[in-house]
Amino acid sequence: MNSISVIVSRNRAGVAMKKAIRINNMISAVIIAHVIYFRKRFPIFGDSAPRRLSESKDTAAIYLLSVYLSFYANLIDMPELPEIETITRVLSPELEGKEIVDAAVMTSSVIAHPSPELFIKSLIGERFATAERRGKFLILNLSSCRLIIHLRMTGSLVVVPSAFPVRKHTHLVLKLSDGNELRFRDVRRFGRLWLMQNGENDSWSGISRLGPEPFGDEFSPSYLSLRCSKSNRAIKEVLMNQSIVAGIGNIYSDEILFSSCINPLRKASSLNMEEWERLVATIKERLLFFIEKNGISLEDYQKSEGLEYRNTPYLQVYGKADEPCPVCGTKLSRCVIGGRSSVFCPHCQK
Ligand SMILES: [Zn+2]
Repeated sequence: MNSISVIVSRNRAGVAMKKAIRINNMISAVIIAHVIYFRKRFPIFGDSAPRRLSESKDTAAIYLLSVYLSFYANLIDMPELPEIETITRVLSPELEGKEIVDAAVMTSSVIAHPSPELFIKSLIGERFATAERRGKFLILNLSSCRLIIHLRMTGSLVVVPSAFPVRKHTHLVLKLSDGNELRFRDVRRFGRLWLMQNGENDSWSGISRLGPEPFGDEFSPSYLSLRCSKSNRAIKEVLMNQSIVAGIGNIYSDEILFSSCINPLRKASSLNMEEWERLVATIKERLLFFIEKNGISLEDYQKSEGLEYRNTPYLQVYGKADEPCPVCGTKLSRCVIGGRSSVFCPHCQK
């Protein structure tokens, strides 16, 4: 594929992303309107509330808003396994062996564990060892602890010289011994970081609840068929369930089901053994394909501020509703499964 078509495809994905954010903003506006309504309707939220309750009214409203927003945030497609793998591979050589000489947290809410003060104190003096991926999590192993990062929707990580201006929405800066800085930036602030000491039980980040990695031996047709033998959920929902298999989201579940010729709406329990075998083989093959295609130089990665690393030129169906199927030419259909927009070919996928 030449560079122009890559740019065109990336722009198309950019438009899709902007559209998704617009929808999210619309949903947010509706929620805010509801919160205002409830504040008027019920005394605890209303201006007529007794004074001692007035402090709690805003807290309650903000809490409601954040619960709704965090729920709807999950509706926006976020980086999945191949993208996190890319970030791990790109950043790993930049960090390995470097010591953290200083740390600054600008937005404490992105630090999920421990307290921001302890987070900073624990990190200073630590040296980066290896970087690894688990599902959609990035894990940076240090001398005596590990930094776990979930980028969610718009989070990004870059390593830049400390002289580079700090961009707006930068929430964490780790100053490294070589004069560079690792910076975490997130426009919508849904990304989270956890710092776990070696030996500390991780009941915080959610990693302990993840299912097997798709490339491991544990993830086999018999494992999947056994886990789903009684499931009435759509197969697409099953693939996106992180406790069944780690790392697959809305984008790659569409791509995987298209390549497996399986309709995303099929009940998981309706798949036969031949289909499970085909599906598992396709999951491994497609994810490896996208990881390989995702190769990006450090220079390009940094230039895009750690955000332009998606596989958009190679996607076959995701985001292409109403376009012709790349195999048979039938118009691709769109449906909503588990609250997520899904695209499939009604002719090829049975
Ligand atoms: Zn087709």
